[in-house]
Amino acid sequence: TGKQEQGVSLSRRDRIEAERTGIVLVLCAPSGTGKTTLTRRLLEEFHRFEFSVSYTTRQPREGEQHGKDYFFVSEDEFNEKREAGFFAEWAEVHGNYYGTPKEETLRKLAAGKDILFDIDVQGAGQLHGSLKQGCYVFILPPSRGELERRLRGRGTDSEATIAKRLANAEKEMQQAHWFNAWIVNDDLDRAYDELRSAYLAATLSPSCHPSLVNSIMKGWRNNG
Ligand code: 5GP
Repeated sequence: TGKQEQGVSLSRRDRIEAERTGIVLVLCAPSGTGKTTLTRRLLEEFHRFEFSVSYTTRQPREGEQHGKDYFFVSEDEFNEKREAGFFAEWAEVHGNYYGTPKEETLRKLAAGKDILFDIDVQGAGQLHGSLKQGCYVFILPPSRGELERRLRGRGTDSEATIAKRLANAEKEMQQAHWFNAWIVNDDLDRAYDELRSAYLAATLSPSCHPSLVNSIMKGWRNNG
């Protein structure tokens, strides 16, 4: 019956999804563009994601946990790791160092996890150099005026910091031409919709399904 057929095709779908390889989803966004909220939504909806925990030399903020938000390390330790090739990418952002552990990333991908990265544009470019597969998304603010309003509205930054963040946003946007997707966050629900579409589209890449065609072709001749 139609119902049974639907059941069969659903379980096949689940199997296809289960058998695909993991991908990286890299989210870059100037501060104030709503990246944190979008990230939270993705992690809530798609349980296959693991968040990439970076190493940083900056001080922990209140409520941040070592090993969950970041691995907080000294500058000496960071430099040692960097020289030993420990990082898949690293960058200096606002006077602190940040880096993504390479082995951990490869281990998660091999285990079929999708990895969500919140890294800056320089780091995203480096990662893209060695890991083309995946989805690199840049979130754009609707306008300079709107970004300024949002940064002010947070009430956490001084005027000098706001000016610095605006200048940084401009610099980052000038480097954003190579990303796979640009999403303007003028409406959060719509931006989220576009983000999940970009991610889902990336999971359909043949490179995520190395044996899919073969497994379908196996039963081809006898109509299986
Ligand atoms: P925060 O100190 O506010 O947590 O992060 C500051 C900036 O550093 C953000 O733009 C964030 O995306 C970036 N960042 C965090 N971790 C990494 C990382 O491992 N590599 C790079 N390149 N940037 C990072």
